[in-house]
Amino acid sequence: MAKERRLKGIAVSEGIARGTVFIYETKKIEVFQTPIFSVYLKDETERFEKALDKTKQDLSNIQERINQETGKGFAQFLDAQIMMLSDKSIKEKVKKGIIEEKKNAEYVYHRVISDYAKKLSESKDQYFKERVADIWDVGLRVLRNLLGLTHSSVVDVPAGSIIVAHDISPSEAALINPKKILGIATEAGGRTSHTAITARALEIPAVVGIKGLMNKIENGEKVIIDGDRGILIKNPTSSRIHFYEIAEEKDRELEKTLSPYYGLPSKTQDGRHIDISANIEFFSEYTHARKYGAEGIGLFRTEFLYLTRRGNPSEEEQYRVYNALAKRMKPHSVIIRTYDLGGDKIFSDYHEANPFLGWRAIRVCLDDPDFFKIQLRAILRASVNKNVKIMFPMISTYEDIKRIHLVFEETKQELKSHNTEYDGEIQFGIMVETPSAAIMSSQLATQVDFFSIGSNDLTQYTLGVDRGNEKISQLFDHFHPAVLHLIQQIINSGHQAHIWVGLCGELAADPLAIPLLIGLGIDELSMNPASIPRAKMVLRSITIPQCEEIAKESLKFRTALEVKRYLRRTIRKKFPKIDEVIK
Ligand code: PEP
Ligand code: MG
Repeated sequence: MAKERRLKGIAVSEGIARGTVFIYETKKIEVFQTPIFSVYLKDETERFEKALDKTKQDLSNIQERINQETGKGFAQFLDAQIMMLSDKSIKEKVKKGIIEEKKNAEYVYHRVISDYAKKLSESKDQYFKERVADIWDVGLRVLRNLLGLTHSSVVDVPAGSIIVAHDISPSEAALINPKKILGIATEAGGRTSHTAITARALEIPAVVGIKGLMNKIENGEKVIIDGDRGILIKNPTSSRIHFYEIAEEKDRELEKTLSPYYGLPSKTQDGRHIDISANIEFFSEYTHARKYGAEGIGLFRTEFLYLTRRGNPSEEEQYRVYNALAKRMKPHSVIIRTYDLGGDKIFSDYHEANPFLGWRAIRVCLDDPDFFKIQLRAILRASVNKNVKIMFPMISTYEDIKRIHLVFEETKQELKSHNTEYDGEIQFGIMVETPSAAIMSSQLATQVDFFSIGSNDLTQYTLGVDRGNEKISQLFDHFHPAVLHLIQQIINSGHQAHIWVGLCGELAADPLAIPLLIGLGIDELSMNPASIPRAKMVLRSITIPQCEEIAKESLKFRTALEVKRYLRRTIRKKFPKIDEVIK
């Protein structure tokens, strides 16, 4: 019996999957040069036109299916690809090349798109540079159709499969059917790679960034994907299988226990209402938010609109998404966060020595007000629904807020001068996620309508620990007393200025943290949709005085470990029901 092997990667989508490996490989296309006799040149140009039409049809079919299955926003990136197929200059160049050089269509087409992609990649304009991947996505589809090759598509993957791939292209990632595909493992990618984003949105357990994966795994092998711990287990031993069977059974039991909470109000036992809302990356996730009983969207990470289509979506495209989201979430509110690009959510070919300390989020937007205003206009236009709030990430200085106010006011005036309507009362909030913003929170609170604490970044910057670096992940702990004292300071500053304070980092979903945060006075908790029922269950089992006592005690400790030990002990002793839902 082959030895068990554990392959470590990055956990990007939680859950456990057991299944059969399906190696997803897009075969390399070889293009040969063939002379064409003059009498056949017309046929050759027609063959090329037909391949373009077929590709257009293929992409429209894909788009149609995604629109039906996942929602409109998800397939928008295909618009750009479909448009490329109608590009007159490419079409004319290829037809001219076929006739003048008397060469086969695939050879000429391959050369033309290679030249085109090369020119775009040399462009100074970020937008054009980012179109290169689209050109190859489309180009390879056309070439496959010309060569009569079938597409290796995720659509054809048999039910019960675990997809193993080097990477999955954006158009393919969008086709993944969660009913058939149990898990995903890739060699490439990080937390915000396309595969990771899609897996989380579709709730498929996934591990990415497994070094050398493709040389270590074969088609048909039985594997386990552990999306909680970020490992793929090859040839699992019977005791390992048993361990995961128990874990899966526990997950199912937990779901049964929590499902009655989907529709219940998020109130403490003694009647205090705390908003429990959802963090989403895609428009289509609003269905999950609604299913699990979210009372609004507490964080819409709009940078994914940019990342999934690899470039800046137009004002109109953004407006359509924000407007539809606001409408679907009524009567609840939707907090739209402006682009948090940079950090680990990188532009395709822009690199910095310290991206988390670099050109990120609001810094990118304030450096290019014209670019920023496209998004501000789209959000303001959607605000006519009266349930939209706007939020700005990565604020580190008072001047940041002053400068945002200037651009925001200018944008409002511009809309007004064009008689475009928006909500004049739109709430203006900031993420408090840098130590400087936390320490200065009483000054910042006078300038805004709400705070939302970004505990992921607040922990990273306070402790000086890169949130995505596996080597030091044991040092990343949002229960560190330094983080907790800053959270207390932010909440107090907000309340003194009579504004509400929420928290939208991973800490919000942690059942150990919820009583503590409520005791500190948090008004809203925003988390990934699937965690909402558990948060409601915790909330409904506790009272405000109990939470206040927990918060007071928690702030006395010197280490994260002491805090967590105390919380575990107290919950086990006083709230056995909550203890049962802690994984
Ligand atoms: C955070 O930093 O806690 C947060 C919610 O934002 P993001 O994870 O997108 O940086
Ligand atoms: Mg953040």
